[in-house]
Amino acid sequence: MVVAPSGAGKSTLVRALLQQDPAICLSVSCTTRAPRPGETDGRDYRFVTAAEFDRMREENALLEWAEVHGNFYGTPVDGIVQATREGRDVLLEIDWQGARQVRQRFPGAIGIFILPPSIEELESRLRARGQDSDSVIARRLLGAGGEIAHAPECEYVIINQEFSVALNELVQIVSAARLRFSSQAVRHAQLFSQLGISAPH
Ligand code: 5GP
Repeated sequence: MVVAPSGAGKSTLVRALLQQDPAICLSVSCTTRAPRPGETDGRDYRFVTAAEFDRMREENALLEWAEVHGNFYGTPVDGIVQATREGRDVLLEIDWQGARQVRQRFPGAIGIFILPPSIEELESRLRARGQDSDSVIARRLLGAGGEIAHAPECEYVIINQEFSVALNELVQIVSAARLRFSSQAVRHAQLFSQLGISAPH
């Protein structure tokens, strides 16, 4: 799970990671927020109406959901459970509330928090995006403080000052996560069983 306040550069980092490592499966969230210029339905988000979102919630079609900056966001459950069972890496870009819910369902889920190098830099990145109104930017800045307060709930922290450094750190975390006992045991189930290795109790 990659968690960050808006403007920390999370989406750009994740996009670059996926380009380098196509084996990672990115979960496309549902949202009731309107698409920003350049965003594509089904790629960036599944853009849904509030009624559709409510229906998904009621049908337990969401692994987790949260209200962020006045809009609803959720992770569709379809695909995720199956992918994790197959030992595939699934990456979620979600907020801290969603991360908490995922941890309850998947205690082994890893949280990576992306921090901006400073609050000033965060503000200027939000403005530079030029896609949101002043009031939306103000709301996102306020929300950033709330999001950052939950950084200690994540296992890893990346400070996104230099993009290439941050990307390299993200790649390293993914590599380390793949080598965890639980991941290796799923990926190499046959070898583990041949060698008589069983899961720790
Ligand atoms: P944005 O509107 O800037 O794309 O995203 C706003 C916030 O919503 C970000 O913190 C992002 O991580 C979070 N978010 C995006 N998708 C989901 C999701 O499926 N679940 C949750 N809980 N948060 C999400």
